[in-house]
Amino acid sequence: MDFDVEKIRQDFPLLSQKVHGHPIVYFDNGATTQKPRQVIETVRRYYEEENASIHRGVHFLSERSTETYEKAREKVRKYINAASTNEVIFTSGTTGSINALAFSFGEKHLGPGTEVIITEMEHHSNIVPWQMVCERKGAKLKVVPFNEKGELVMAEFKKLLSDKTRIVAVTQISNSLGTINPVKEIIRLAHKSEVPVLVDGAQAIPHESIDVRDLDADFYAFSGHKAYGPNGIGVLYGKEKLLYDLPPYQGGGDMVDCVSFEKTTYDQLPFKFEAGTMNYIGAAGLATALDYISGIGLDRIREYEKYLLEYATMKLMTVSGLEIYGNAAEKISTISFLMDGIHPYDAGMVLDKLGIAVRTGTHCTQPVMDHFKITGTLRASMAFYNTTGEIDRLHAGLHRVREMFG
Ligand code: PMP
Repeated sequence: MDFDVEKIRQDFPLLSQKVHGHPIVYFDNGATTQKPRQVIETVRRYYEEENASIHRGVHFLSERSTETYEKAREKVRKYINAASTNEVIFTSGTTGSINALAFSFGEKHLGPGTEVIITEMEHHSNIVPWQMVCERKGAKLKVVPFNEKGELVMAEFKKLLSDKTRIVAVTQISNSLGTINPVKEIIRLAHKSEVPVLVDGAQAIPHESIDVRDLDADFYAFSGHKAYGPNGIGVLYGKEKLLYDLPPYQGGGDMVDCVSFEKTTYDQLPFKFEAGTMNYIGAAGLATALDYISGIGLDRIREYEKYLLEYATMKLMTVSGLEIYGNAAEKISTISFLMDGIHPYDAGMVLDKLGIAVRTGTHCTQPVMDHFKITGTLRASMAFYNTTGEIDRLHAGLHRVREMFG
């Protein structure tokens, strides 16, 4: 395969580290990704040469900083193929984006007798904000189940869609099962009932090419840190006509037009939704991260990660008593699993001593664990800088776990 992973790894300083005396194997990319030198350099250069608060000054640095921030917005627009930069709102991350939308959308559109549809495989970030707003507004939450392979039961989704539904909020890719959901079809069906859809793209952004217009997504949320960018920056995309009608989520500096004690008017899109001093350095880092991904190419990334998934699945299945949770036909390179009779924390701790970082626990998807009647799993989530050699080390590590815990 034409994929020079060793060359790519050289861009990621953290990957040359040792943990407990072993070269690190970082398989916790679903939680957060490591950063290439290019992103680290953007952030460093910004602090050293450009740092000034955006949108507020006429001085040189402030203007330059504002320009960099708005260029980052344009970069995101192009990357997700939004129609306008008015549709790209910077937030603190996926959680920030979903909370903003749930609050704002709820204020405008939810009330007694209305319903919100989510799915059983959502991250807590796409459950709790909707639960909170439903409680506040007297609306109901409806949940689309998934089957034993970890695929959404589309027939149930169709049954739940009704004239009471006001919004559908669905993850494009499950962080604990790896399932790639048919979001385009979900959006098509919802739109037939004139219901808008929020797509949680937290896990999709590092693995898939995103075209919000092709998807016809009404809202789309993602985090920079899951896509090789800095922490604390994220995006809420929304169709302009929908955002225009929504009230702001937070009040403060920068989001206003005119403030008086009698009445305050709000700024235009997208600034109406960006209160306070935004994370402009994070935005610049995110722009560099998106360039970095584009430089490798999402088609090549997908092909290589599919190879990793197949190799890892094949290897793990040879470990006795190992069960994989999430066997959807369409999956990213994330594998959740358990070894019978062995607590995931015990296994995770042994792997850690061997320098292998996997995630253990519920992965902020307790309903997924409830579905399988388990308390948690081990999760290996692989990125394009991982190698088959690292998978071999995981495989050997799991044999060691088996030896130790029988
Ligand atoms: N949704 C999904 C599917 C996720 O995987 C995550 C992070 N694990 C989130 C939402 C929340 O993202 P963040 O913590 O960056 O806000």
